[in-house]
Amino acid sequence: MSILKNAIDSIAIGLEDYSSPDQRRMISCTRNVFAGILLLFKYKLSLLSSPDSDEALIKQQVLPVLDESAHLEWKGKGKKTVDVQGIKERFESLNINVDWKRIDKINSFRNDIEHYFSNLKHEAIQSLISNSFVIINDFIRKYLNEDPKKLLGGEAWAVLIEVNEVYEKEKAACSIALQALEFFDDEILNAFESYFCGECGSGLIMPSTREGEAVRANYTCKSCGKTLPYEEMVREVVTGYFSHEIYLSYTDGEDSPLADCPECSGIYMYAQGICASCGHTAERECQRCFSAILPEELFAEPFCGYCEHVMFKDN
Ligand SMILES: [Zn+2]
Ligand SMILES: [Zn+2]
Ligand SMILES: [Zn+2]
Repeated sequence: MSILKNAIDSIAIGLEDYSSPDQRRMISCTRNVFAGILLLFKYKLSLLSSPDSDEALIKQQVLPVLDESAHLEWKGKGKKTVDVQGIKERFESLNINVDWKRIDKINSFRNDIEHYFSNLKHEAIQSLISNSFVIINDFIRKYLNEDPKKLLGGEAWAVLIEVNEVYEKEKAACSIALQALEFFDDEILNAFESYFCGECGSGLIMPSTREGEAVRANYTCKSCGKTLPYEEMVREVVTGYFSHEIYLSYTDGEDSPLADCPECSGIYMYAQGICASCGHTAERECQRCFSAILPEELFAEPFCGYCEHVMFKDN
């Protein structure tokens, strides 16, 4: 029971920090809320640990031991408890599904907050609270079978709900503004809508105009004020959007989702067949041998790497 109480206290204190007008308490807000979420997770692991295993599932070290009748048991050892990575692995193997992408966002924001604290606005932690709300609400209902409002107490719950609503409203306004622009491809719009500011982690990105071509606008993070022109913004946005595919291209040898555009050396989306930076659509087939032009051969477009090499040699 004490893990659960610590979790609830930590979240409640974090939300008090948030409601305080004192800017300095923003750091402790992010720490407390994140610690509270991890404690909720650990509480679930402690519930699932068998009664005489010394809470094996929340211990970093779990060792096999034989009981009197020579049955194998797993027991937790020492005081160290599992870290984020350990919780992730155990949840996966126990079929407990939480949105790790969202949690990683909360965690990296928490890690980075000291670095940009000097120009941090209060609104910057809105997205952290909003993300935390989604995780906490979902996890308590689904895996603890409790009513989060009852568990957290009306006051803390009200803060969570309110911040989330404000954030969602502003997020919707940003989405409407982005959707009013003409992007080279719908996938680029999707990428902009799911982007979180590289400086402060907020998802509130506003374009400088409400009509016309997206490529002509500047983009401002409403939380930290960072502003970038399209050509710089689109690099960050699209690279982040395809981060999972980029990772797979390194680990599983799959095609890279992105390549250098042969036209503008911007960021070319290979599967979509269009450059996110300039809108160029490259030939997919070599005009000499009709084989597919691979991402790493795009520089040779409209030919494949081999044909370009042969023709270049002939000259
Ligand atoms: Zn920002
Ligand atoms: Zn291009
Ligand atoms: Zn060819």
